[in-house]
Amino acid sequence: MQNNTSNFRPLETSRRLKDLMCAYYRELDEASSNRSARIAWCTSQGPVELLRAMGFLVYFPENHGALLGATRMATELIPYATAVGYSPDICSYLTSDIGAFLTGRTPLTGAYNIPGPPRPDVLVYNNNQCRDVQEWFEFYSRQYEVPILGIRTPRGVGEVSSGIIEAVADQMEKMAEDLAPICGQHLEIENLKDTIRLSKQCTELWKQVLEAAVNRPSPLTFFDACIYIGPAVMLRGTERAITYYLELIDELQDRMRTKTGAIPEERYRLYWERMPIWGKLRFFAETMARMKACVVASTYGHSWVFEALDPEQPFGSMARAYTELFTVRDERSKASFLLKMFEAFGVDGVIYHNSKTCPNCANSQYGMPERLSKKTGIPYLIIDGDLNDLRLFSQEQTLTNLEAFVEMLGQERLE
Ligand code: SF4
Repeated sequence: MQNNTSNFRPLETSRRLKDLMCAYYRELDEASSNRSARIAWCTSQGPVELLRAMGFLVYFPENHGALLGATRMATELIPYATAVGYSPDICSYLTSDIGAFLTGRTPLTGAYNIPGPPRPDVLVYNNNQCRDVQEWFEFYSRQYEVPILGIRTPRGVGEVSSGIIEAVADQMEKMAEDLAPICGQHLEIENLKDTIRLSKQCTELWKQVLEAAVNRPSPLTFFDACIYIGPAVMLRGTERAITYYLELIDELQDRMRTKTGAIPEERYRLYWERMPIWGKLRFFAETMARMKACVVASTYGHSWVFEALDPEQPFGSMARAYTELFTVRDERSKASFLLKMFEAFGVDGVIYHNSKTCPNCANSQYGMPERLSKKTGIPYLIIDGDLNDLRLFSQEQTLTNLEAFVEMLGQERLE
């Protein structure tokens, strides 16, 4: 089917998203200034439902890290963290965020006219994604002299057994007790169920957004999804996220009805494995569009789909949702997830981002790309780079590699 390029335009809901994020950060800033609410800092795949149910406003340092990357402030700030002992080889969200704290610089001022991140009353992490989040929060616990609470999740999990779920759920219940004196109230289980209900709705809608890319042409790209993901990370468990995704879905459906693709001409469909390169989103979006290659799906986008959430089993379902994630799993589970994704989205090629400071999440170093390619016949390209540290990324080299890869896809099609 021919793509209707005359209807190509940016999504209207992008503007709505900016307002939504602005309101979210200003609310945190106000609460931080006048102490009108308790503030918890939380990891992006942490137990946010529990925190909201207990009345906390929730701030996510990883989003601040992504903003530092997207605004390209990160590369300049990382050396300040290195100077106080944090290796440049560890998570560049962590090092750029600590660099921002040490220098008092933040993209929040330019974007939302606020002085910086809100002051925390408590720091809450789940080490399901990596060790770095814990070390990152320990830094702030020392700086602000506030308590730090953590969920310890086993990693490299194959089958997510009932034993693992019980162990994680027990920690979450204990966390609710530890949070009570900090927020001055005990957990009301009905509040938790209501928040999980909202989170579940958010997750279902976010999944619907991502799955719109199954259509040909796809109405969105991975690079769009990196922006639209904001509410699924930061506002899950609130009505605001649901309202936003309903509007976004409406707009995507409109594109699907009119066969309007996210790029002017979709000739190839690609998959992106792992982290974005935040400071180069535009470069990739424009380069891929010029090559008529649409990156239709990613592991990153689906990492905020928490299907197991169930308000009727609050602790057990939160434990399952935050443990059965891709990042937490073993190689076989990851391979099986990727194979399903390649098939569902009908991809012609796979790009693996070998993100240097997030080795936990990179899946290109132990032969997986070659194994999956042999099994499916789908070619792949490994790009060396990093989520935030642009010193680890060569645009020139990447462009050469991308051009050769897409040319090869074209030749394969002719054969
Ligand atoms: S998962 Fe990777 S990017 Fe995210 S906090 Fe951990 S090391 Fe950093």
